[in-house]
Amino acid sequence: MAGDTERRPILLTVDDDPGVSRAVARDLRRRYGETYRVVRTESGPQALETLRELKLRGDLVAVLLADHRMPQMTGLEFLEEAMDLFPHARRALLTAYADTDAAIQAINVVDLDHYLLKPWDPPEEKLYPVVDSLIEMWLGTDEQTTSLTQVVGHRWSARSFEVRDFLARNSVPYQWLSSEEPEGRRLLSAAEVDATSIPLVVTPESDYLVDPSIGELAARVGLSTTPNIDFYDVLIVGGGPAGLGAAVYAASEGLRTVLVEREATGGQAGQSSRIENYLGFPDGVTGGQLTDRARRQAHKFGAEILTTRDVVGLDVRPSSRAVRFADGGEVVAHGLLLATGIAYRKLGVPGADDLTGRGIFYGSAMTEAPACAGDQVYVVGGANSAGQAAVFLARHARRVTMLVRADSLEKSMSYYLVRQIDETPNIEVRVHTEVVGAHGDDHLEGLTLCDRRAGTQETVPAGYLFVFIGAAPRTEWLGGVVARDPMGFVLTGRDLVVDGQRPRGWGLNRDPYYLESSVPGVFAAGDVRANSVKRVASAVGEGAMAIQLIHGYLEHQ
Ligand SMILES: Cc1cc2nc3c(=O)[nH]c(=O)nc-3n(C[C@H](O)[C@H](O)[C@H](O)COP(=O)(O)OP(=O)(O)OC[C@H]3O[C@@H](n4cnc5c(N)ncnc54)[C@H](O)[C@@H]3O)c2cc1C
Repeated sequence: MAGDTERRPILLTVDDDPGVSRAVARDLRRRYGETYRVVRTESGPQALETLRELKLRGDLVAVLLADHRMPQMTGLEFLEEAMDLFPHARRALLTAYADTDAAIQAINVVDLDHYLLKPWDPPEEKLYPVVDSLIEMWLGTDEQTTSLTQVVGHRWSARSFEVRDFLARNSVPYQWLSSEEPEGRRLLSAAEVDATSIPLVVTPESDYLVDPSIGELAARVGLSTTPNIDFYDVLIVGGGPAGLGAAVYAASEGLRTVLVEREATGGQAGQSSRIENYLGFPDGVTGGQLTDRARRQAHKFGAEILTTRDVVGLDVRPSSRAVRFADGGEVVAHGLLLATGIAYRKLGVPGADDLTGRGIFYGSAMTEAPACAGDQVYVVGGANSAGQAAVFLARHARRVTMLVRADSLEKSMSYYLVRQIDETPNIEVRVHTEVVGAHGDDHLEGLTLCDRRAGTQETVPAGYLFVFIGAAPRTEWLGGVVARDPMGFVLTGRDLVVDGQRPRGWGLNRDPYYLESSVPGVFAAGDVRANSVKRVASAVGEGAMAIQLIHGYLEHQ
């Protein structure tokens, strides 16, 4: 496949019966062969491996046709995993007889589009109408109109990782090419730079960006970075679940809404490999899928979303609230919602800072997982985020070792995840264990681990370390303007009224609303709020509720 340069979108079939598999592929090629490339596979794992290769090469997959009853992996299990790789591909299940249970389950679990009974003769009547409609649905998504951005970099270059992670988290499709492979070298020489000038980004318009800043990149790949108008009704800082939830509700109610995000929408939730406890997704949803849907929903209602704008200051004016950006400029609105969540704590051990992005990663299990195929990886942390990452990484890595400071996972992790970890043979849990040092020149090569109970230390070879050791709010920019608790979380509502006294400088003849900060018209929702529940559902709920309260504030101003 490496030398294949075809760029036709793909129709992929998987059926364990070679005769059937060949027949489906033959019928598909006859009708669609000119425009689409038909790829035939004979097992779920083989099909997934093929999809991973296609993904890495930047190919587009339009349709997945899977036989249901297969050994190793059912069609349903295959489609579920395939969705993570190609969420826009349309999906159909092939069954030998009316297996209604499987079909109903598939509709719920993998958002199945069609259900086909074998045999499908004559194809003109039974197969093509279904595949036509699948293709039509796929053409209705905007995936195939986006030609691909290409990134040439090196697996141990921290800047290459930053660029890749940014594109992935913002759902910008891209093709990754190593500077050591022929196609990567070809692009570098076309841009007249050498392998030290990475990352090189080639836009679909064939513009070359050498080691671009994230702001420059955002603007070039079509993400908005500047406000369209001078004044908004609602300004939301932070594009995690709380901010996106608020943007959907505010814009759907006709408020002029702008959301400002420093990195990529989705926040912490966007980094989750599978959220299992969010209402309405009985079989879980990846953070990427949830974010993509939320962002499209906010856009649909007319919310503006600005990415790569870091908010660093707040000005409280008589009838408006303004925030300042790190790179200059400001945006002004009647009401302001702080939805800045929390950010990962750094490992803080010798050697770790230098190796960040070059083997040590904070939260980026999703972006890096394919690169770990066949390797031993380490995950630090004992809470749900670490557990999810370990389970996800175990699908790619040879072995995953969880390093947990406490004496068990049960105290800090949900029961369902502890069970999944127990049941995953290539995950090992080392309790009482801390990372105390990281080593490597060009990239991470080893870790020093300390067993606190035994009082021993050992150095182990390691190429990948994923860190999930808790997080803290980054609210220093609010300075003394908005009251915060000693940890930096924003105080709201009743927490601000102490011994019947309203906050200093409050100036209104009412108490702060629930979710309102010590400054009237400035609200807080989600993880950044003091005493909040740190969950996706509560963040979304608070975001929605904050809009209702901002309405109240605007009406009684
Ligand atoms: C790996 C992982 C897995 C998780 N899994 C689950 C789960 O399964 N179920 C569950 O319920 N919860 C889960 N959580 C917790 C859940 O994701 C959080 O509770 C939720 O994301 C909080 O949402 P939020 O919008 O308040 O903040 P965040 O998600 O933290 O989003 C805040 C956003 O604000 C941006 N921002 C911060 N400061 C600024 C600034 N100054 N200027 C501009 N933008 C700024 C950040 O870049 C970020 O995008 C998980 C968390 C992690 C890390």
